[in-house]
Amino acid sequence: MRRVYLDYSATTPVDPEVLQEMLPYFTEKFGNANSMHSFGQEGGAAVDAARRKIAELLGVKPTEIYFISGGTEGDNWALKGCASAYSGRGRHVIVSSIEHAALIGSAHQLEREGYRVTFLPVTDKGIVTPEILEKYITDDTSIVSVMLANNEIGTVQPVKELAAVAHAHHALFHTDAVQAMGSIPVDVNDLGVDLMTFSGHKFYGPKGIGVLYIRSGVKPDKLIAGGHQERTMRGGTTNVPAVVGIAKALEIALRDLDANAARIAALRDRFVAGVKQRIPYIVYNGDEKKRLPQNANFSFEFLEGESILMRLDLAGVACSSGSACSSGSLDPSHVLLATGLPVEKAHGSIRFTFGKYTTVEDVDYTLDKLTEIITTLREMSPLFAEFRDGVKM
Ligand code: PLP
Repeated sequence: MRRVYLDYSATTPVDPEVLQEMLPYFTEKFGNANSMHSFGQEGGAAVDAARRKIAELLGVKPTEIYFISGGTEGDNWALKGCASAYSGRGRHVIVSSIEHAALIGSAHQLEREGYRVTFLPVTDKGIVTPEILEKYITDDTSIVSVMLANNEIGTVQPVKELAAVAHAHHALFHTDAVQAMGSIPVDVNDLGVDLMTFSGHKFYGPKGIGVLYIRSGVKPDKLIAGGHQERTMRGGTTNVPAVVGIAKALEIALRDLDANAARIAALRDRFVAGVKQRIPYIVYNGDEKKRLPQNANFSFEFLEGESILMRLDLAGVACSSGSACSSGSLDPSHVLLATGLPVEKAHGSIRFTFGKYTTVEDVDYTLDKLTEIITTLREMSPLFAEFRDGVKM
């Protein structure tokens, strides 16, 4: 049976070039990057080089790059670390209502600790506009966090304008660029953000490694005390192979960004056009234009996303309902609900995310299987039968 992976926003395979670069650091160059001896120096030099490479690729200073375990950790650190360190400015924090669970969870934790938290509403296309932020920001807001691109519906947010609003009110601005990095151009200086999170496994690097960019002068509380690593801000023995891997993965992702984005968007567009043409009663969620090239998210009316997902899996196609991190929960997606989609439609939504190893054959195979599955499931659906027979629901 054919196996088709259309869940690149959940994770990506490690690029073989990245793996080659990492391998020596598991075996012959295994030294602790903080040890004084020559083994340690080899590891330390690799970490320094990776930090310099990432800084250069992003146009920032190496001292502004902090290695962390991934997106979840970066989001937690940025929001809670700044809310606490800057509580003197005020105890109000703003996040958008379509953030990844890492930020929503951090915001709820702050709420329990007595902070006032605003979850910004979004438009029906899933966009946070500067006007929305302007309405909710106050002079005691210490930090605003809005993602650069959404993981479920792929909407790209006007982060530059949002950061400007935050700064006009003397608040810090963090963006979760986990889905954006490697998929669309990200110019941290032009965006004007103070902190930015990204994660290696979303752009063909290893899992368990990410970066929090912290602009010079911004000082969140320490994340992990008890070590000298990451300029004492995040203690713990450095994962040298992963650090080497994320730097290489970023280099490749940015080198190939334009070509990959164009190819992937064309595959996604072929898929979207095929679904719209072949399957009735659907909603294409998110914004048609302000959207990541790899993302397509549909609601299939009268159906449950989980049953579609399971049948697609049996046909060899891997995709997701909601974000992978919330799979296992049958709650409708908070992102789709925030766009105003009714609960029953949110329940029937599936995210397809394409990547650099996706082929036209993968897309066409998926379209065939999906059409068959939706038709079969609707034939079995009492809701669809009532609708078809014109019974008022
Ligand atoms: N933020 C966004 C937007 C994501 O999509 C994800 C992962 O899906 C994360 C954060 C968490 O990243 P990680 O898996 O590296 O912890």
